[in-house]
Amino acid sequence: MTPRVWAMISLVALIAAAAVVAMLRVPWTAAPAPRADQLAALDTLPHDAVAQGRAFHAALRPDMYLSLVVGLLVALALGLTPAGSWIVEQAGRPFGGHWLARALLGGFAVTLVGEVFALPLAAWRQSILRRYGLSTQGWGGWTVDLLKGYAVGAVIGAIVLVGFFTITHFAPRWWWAWAAAGAAALAILLSFVFPVLVEPVFNKFTPMPAGEQRTRLMEMAARDGVPVRDVLIADASRRTRAVNAYVSGLGPTRRIVVYDTLLEKAPPAEVESVVAHELGHAKQSDVLTGTLLGALGAAAAVCALYLLGSWSALLRLARVDSIAEPRAIALLLAIATVAGLFAGPAQALISRRVEARADQHALNLTHDPTEFEAMQGRLSLVNLGDPDPNPLEQFLFGSHPTAVERMAAARAWARAHPHP
Ligand SMILES: [Zn+2]
Repeated sequence: MTPRVWAMISLVALIAAAAVVAMLRVPWTAAPAPRADQLAALDTLPHDAVAQGRAFHAALRPDMYLSLVVGLLVALALGLTPAGSWIVEQAGRPFGGHWLARALLGGFAVTLVGEVFALPLAAWRQSILRRYGLSTQGWGGWTVDLLKGYAVGAVIGAIVLVGFFTITHFAPRWWWAWAAAGAAALAILLSFVFPVLVEPVFNKFTPMPAGEQRTRLMEMAARDGVPVRDVLIADASRRTRAVNAYVSGLGPTRRIVVYDTLLEKAPPAEVESVVAHELGHAKQSDVLTGTLLGALGAAAAVCALYLLGSWSALLRLARVDSIAEPRAIALLLAIATVAGLFAGPAQALISRRVEARADQHALNLTHDPTEFEAMQGRLSLVNLGDPDPNPLEQFLFGSHPTAVERMAAARAWARAHPHP
């Protein structure tokens, strides 16, 4: 059998494996709480604050869609014309057009063009966040974060570029198999490495100091049967007024992180509800599910890329001989950008389901739907969220159920678990 047939078999097998993981590990059956409960919950929120959240999202909307469109147009303009391959050639020229120089410098040059277009849109977004008081960061701090982001991106980008084109150079027939394995391995590695190496680049983490709150949270984790190494506080307040908490890492790197803003703004019982939700993620190993899906998806994407590489019209547009040569970097990025447009809503759908399950976990653990609902309302108001957003945007971008859905879920839970 030819490498092409094997690539097709692998692609089908990887997609099937991802589907099995998604079927087994994502809760698909739970129905959202009744709309009547959602509307009743919405009515309990202060109307001027809801209006403020909606105004904020209306202000962000043009920038958000423009960023999507500009990102897509730049990627297509570079990838589906000879422009991208020309840039890569120029970047490699000082090194005699060596493939490694083309891969690394060409990759950076092509990415840089995209960043030049993205930068003003990112600055526009930041100006809106500041105008609405959600961001506490001055332009100096914002720029430092931006540069840190570029540095992290450059390190990961260099690993991907050098790794990928070394493989295609030395294994011209079977590169897709090695690259697929490499992509999956990288997805798993990043899941371990990100919380330990990358998150501290942007935030300082300190263990929650010993005291009543920490004791109560650790007791709740013990009651839940979830081994928690530590509860960490992130100094998010130096950049934002938004409140949040999350769980990251796998196995020994797993930790629960609470924003300092949350501790400042929410009473202890609501913080407990938030941490109970995060324990739900830990108990169900949601990070592992995400990592598995990411690894299978990355490997499938490499196989698909290889198969797309025999589409000669595409190669002619980009004026490249093969999708596996460094001159095709812009074409690869264009394909990735288009694929990302479709992958985004699928990821959001899975995320919403997983988040709804963590909410149920929090309710079952705390037995306190009142605090849970209060916490959801506060989360939405403090974060300038739209508690009941437009269904299309929720479908496209919503990583969590809407605030009113989450509040309504607490009401439904209360009905199903009446006090004795
Ligand atoms: Zn969550």
